[in-house]
Parts: sequence; C-alpha cells; structure tokens
Amino acid sequence: TAMMDAPAPGPLARLVDAGLEVPVLGGGLVRHVNLDTAASAPALAAVAAHVVEVLPYYASVHRGTGYPSQQTTALVEAARATVARHVGARDDDLVVFTRNTTDALNLLAAAVPGDTVVLDLEHHANLLPWRAGGRRVVVARPTIAETLEVLDAELARCPAALLTVTGASNVTGEVLPVDRLATLAHAHGARLAVDAAQLLPHRRVSLEASGIDYLAFSGHKAYAPFGAGALVGRADWLDAAPAHLAGGGAVESVSLDRVAWKQGAARHEAGTPNVVGIAAIARALSELERLGDAARDGHERALTERLNSGLAAQRGVRVVRGFDDVDDRLGIATIELERGSVGLLAAALGAEHGISVRAGRFCAHPFFERVASRANGLRASLGAGSSADDVDRFLAALSRLLADGP
Ligand code: PLP
Repeated sequence: TAMMDAPAPGPLARLVDAGLEVPVLGGGLVRHVNLDTAASAPALAAVAAHVVEVLPYYASVHRGTGYPSQQTTALVEAARATVARHVGARDDDLVVFTRNTTDALNLLAAAVPGDTVVLDLEHHANLLPWRAGGRRVVVARPTIAETLEVLDAELARCPAALLTVTGASNVTGEVLPVDRLATLAHAHGARLAVDAAQLLPHRRVSLEASGIDYLAFSGHKAYAPFGAGALVGRADWLDAAPAHLAGGGAVESVSLDRVAWKQGAARHEAGTPNVVGIAAIARALSELERLGDAARDGHERALTERLNSGLAAQRGVRVVRGFDDVDDRLGIATIELERGSVGLLAAALGAEHGISVRAGRFCAHPFFERVASRANGLRASLGAGSSADDVDRFLAALSRLLADGP
C-alpha cells in the first residue's frame, strides 16, 4: 500500500523511556515497545528535565514569604494560564487542578444543578460519578447520526443540565464530534462536558471554538507524571458548588461556627497542591504545542493507519468498533480473538517479546459488553513517542503467537 511505501516514521518526540530495554523469557534484553500509552504515557524527556529544574524550588504555595515559595506560587499560576491557553478556555473559565480525570469529573458531578445525560460508551470515570438519581444513560447507536438523534430526543423528552461525553473512546479510539454535541446540548439548554482524558494528548481541543462548557483531563496520559489533572470550564456552577475538599486554602475565613468559602479555583483546591505534577502538565502541553498539531496528527495518523491495516490483515482477529461511520480514530485498537485467550496473548507479548499492551474491558464494562463478542479484549495504543518499528514488532509478534496457538 501507499502507507508501506512512505518512509517509516520514527518517534515524533523523545519520551523518558526511549531505548528502555526489558528482559524477555529465555534470557536477554530487548528494546521495550510501549503500546499501552492510553493507560499512562511515559513523560516527555523535556518534561522530565523540567521536573528536575523545579525540584529545588519545592516549597509551599500561596503562604510562604521566601523566594522558593514565591517561585512555586508563580509556577502554579503560570501553569494554570498555560492549561487555559492550551485548551482554548474563555477568559472567565476556571482551571481547577485535580488529581486526575476521575477526580475532575467527580468534582463536576457535585456541581451540576440537575440531571446529567451520558452515553453508554463511557469510561467508568464518566459514568459512575453522575448521581445515580439524576443520571440518564443513552445507549449509543451504530452511527453518529442516529446517536445524535437519540440524544436529541432524550434532551427534548426531559430537560437536563448537562450532557457529558468522552472526546474519544478509550476502547476503540473513535473520536466523537464534540462541536455537534455542544450545539445539540445548547439547543436544549444543557451544557456539554467532555472527558478529554484520551482526546487531549492526541488532538488539539478548544473549549471556545467547540463550545465545550467543561473539559477534564489527566497529566499522566498527556506525557506528564502521575498525580495531577484538571477540570476547566464555566465558573458559575463551580462557585456555587460545595468545596470539593474541605480544608486549608479553600476558605476566606473560619470561625468555630462559620466558614466563608472562596470563589474560583481555590474553592476546590484545598490542601497543598501537587506542584511538581502541575508544572509537569504545563510543560507537557507547551511541548506538544512546540511539536505542532499538524506534525502530531500526521505522525499518529500514519502509525494508526499502519496498525489498523496490519490488524485487518491478521486472521482470527476482530477489531472492536462502536460506530460504523467514525473514520477519525486515535491510535487505539482493541482486538478480540476468534479462538484463545487475550489475557495469555497479552502476557506472552510482554514476557516473550517485550511489548506492553493491556487485556480486559478497559473500565468501560457496559460499552465493552455491548460491542464485543468476547469477555475481554486486547488493546494496543500509541502516541507521539511511538515508531513504525513499534507497530511492526507488535504485528509480527501477534502473527507469530497466533500461529503458534494458545
Ligand atoms: N476517561 C477516559 C476516556 C479514560 O481513558 C480514562 C483512563 O483510563 C479516564 C477517564 C480516567 O483517567 P484517570 O484514571 O487518570 O482519572
């Protein structure tokens, strides 16, 4: 194919695990192939270097008077501005730092003044936080057009405050049309939240341009280390909501019988923040901007095409899809086997070939049960640090293991 004639892409960006060697059964070391970036992506090398720069300034935020404390405070506030810029936040949107996407969506769930409508294809993080009484789950249809119709009917049937969707499925990589979903939600007086845990590291997202009201993401899938994420979006609901955590930093004043909670991001950020994680997120987003959206898209689309065409040619393998009409897919592919166990296959890829993938139902049990015909799938996922050689090694190892049988 034309794809195979094109120069085989190497990694677009250097990650901290570049060149990592891992032991394989039978002895020896092989270069590790990380095809589990949808779970957690290793940090960019530039992010790791920034973390080392930041560590000596490790000091308390907002309270200290010394130079390191002032630097740390400035770092966190600069990171907030970087996140706002990167996701195209409106001037009056809040950027609240959280632990991760799960934490961000739980915070939003406590702030929604009414029902939430959600699709069944969500990761549990965007399914379970919505208060059981006010959560209305719509089963997605085989096409986006039909799915928009059922959402439209549901929002017309009974008003909701919020429609929340994933920007891209963590099982299939399928990208949802967030612009159209925003228009649909707004037509019914609802707001749109996007779980961008998967989307943000791989496609540029803009709240303002797409009409997204709230966006949640995690640093650890966006080439920064663990422990920090963010919720970005409209201030009014967040200012009216109970503080996400009760404690220092979230209050104007406290007496033994009265608490005056702050407005703004600080209301939901009680306790000492993860300064290093926050600085790392900002550097990761800046670094993605430096690489350029076009370069990242081109790189990942070429590898995704290579992965998907290789899987399509593989006998006894079925690629899981949620929609018939979504062509835009991130570099995520989940397969099921006609015969044999994906768990054993994933273990053999790791132990015999030094290739990391994931087997299971990917924290999206209702969706997986609807679209898959087996109990478990095997997911390969790639990103800016992946190369054509990574994809080829995976496809070759898969062929060999399937030919050998379970
Ligand atoms: N949403 C999606 C689509 C995901 O893929 C994930 C992670 O797997 C999450 C939410 C949860 O992210 P975290 O574990 O960082 O909170």
